Amino acid sequence: MISNLILQFNSFELLILFAIALVFFFILLTDIKKQGKRMMLINPEIKVQLICKECGFKEIRDFREGDYISKEPDEKCEKCGGEKYIDIIYSIVKQEKTRQS
Ligand SMILES: [Zn+2]
Repeated sequence: MISNLILQFNSFELLILFAIALVFFFILLTDIKKQGKRMMLINPEIKVQLICKECGFKEIRDFREGDYISKEPDEKCEKCGGEKYIDIIYSIVKQEKTRQS
């Protein structure tokens, strides 16, 4: 009787359980993939604010490799031609609308 129950459980119900587990696994997997896509949609844009030492003119441009705060890049002020330095570096998070499933 007991062995018969185990046999029934092993053959049919275990297969169903396995199928359910497989479905859950795929749901979980697709959910992880969706989250990954959501993460990729967040695209931060790094900006640099430069200030002219001579006239205090502020300029904002995109971040370039090697930029750091207080760095004096080889860029001249648009207004007076004076030396500029990097005042602040900040990022703008551009988040695209997440597609609702
Ligand atoms: Zn200037």
